Amino acid sequence: MKIVVTGGSGLVGESLQQIMPDAIYLSSKDYDLTSQEQVQTMFCDLKPDAVVHLAGRVGGIVDNIKYPAKYYTDNALMNTLLVENARMSNVKRFIGILSTCVYPDVVANYPLTEEMLHVGPPTPTNFAYGYAKRCLAVQIDAYNKEYNTQYQYLTPCNLYGVNDKFGENSHFVPALLRKIYDAKINRASEILLFGSGKPLRQFMLVDDFAKVIKLCLEQNIYESFNVATDQNLSIDEIARLALKACDAEHLKLVYDDSMPDGQFRKDVSIEKLKKSIPTFKAKDLKIGLKETYEILSRKWDAS
Ligand code: NAP
Repeated sequence: MKIVVTGGSGLVGESLQQIMPDAIYLSSKDYDLTSQEQVQTMFCDLKPDAVVHLAGRVGGIVDNIKYPAKYYTDNALMNTLLVENARMSNVKRFIGILSTCVYPDVVANYPLTEEMLHVGPPTPTNFAYGYAKRCLAVQIDAYNKEYNTQYQYLTPCNLYGVNDKFGENSHFVPALLRKIYDAKINRASEILLFGSGKPLRQFMLVDDFAKVIKLCLEQNIYESFNVATDQNLSIDEIARLALKACDAEHLKLVYDDSMPDGQFRKDVSIEKLKKSIPTFKAKDLKIGLKETYEILSRKWDAS
């Protein structure tokens, strides 16, 4: 089976390459997937049997607030073009990737199940990104109904790993690990984190998410479901776990609550995941943070 992975140079793509080396991994340098012409060319050139569509405009809260139009249009275009051209090219397998940002900002009962997708609007801080991603679910469900495709989407919680983005547009975990590293090097006594520390988050090691994608392909699993861990912790609890994991418990956590928190909670149910892949077990967060920090700090020491 010829598998093409869009977004192959990103966090998830780099991880998938380790366990599925025979697939074709694309970056935006190969094809701009917001262009109808280039998407058509990609399908013509590569003639895939299966597409794992990871490509997207992905970023932190501040960037999402600053550029909502870019987050909406890039993601909506890429998703729409990819699914439609996959169908026209008779692609049998398509796995699209959503995000737990697609879910309503607030619901009466948690965790969020797959059936709750449309009970309310996404959170204001990620509204455009969340809606564009939500539309991918609408599109795939519609195609499965009208065209009898067996396309699928997976909805992962927040991911982290050694190939994460660092710097201005980084996510919470890479920013946290880098702040801990810098504080240790500079013998600082505290680190500054954005927001109140109160929101709840599920964080999964990206390698675990990549395993789920591979298992779906290998075991012919076509169901769409959430992919998350059962550890739903506050940002402050996660930061304290990271301090322990990085031998940095002496550091004080200071919060800048003038910065936005984002959605208060968006913990998702993993019942469907457990049913679809009963053998799957995600790595414990403290162990994952420790292993990630060890690799990153060796890299940073050497640079
Ligand atoms: P990432 O590291 O930001 O990588 C994004 C990928 O998309 C890169 O390979 C990038 O190529 C490609 N891309 C961006 N714009 C493109 C364009 N116009 N044409 C072609 N390719 C383009 O993202 P990620 O963290 O691996 O995320 C993968 C998927 O998982 C995304 O759909 C994201 O929404 C979803 N997700 C991620 C998280 C998370 O915590 N990271 C959580 C939930 C869901 P270049 O390298 O050339 O720029």
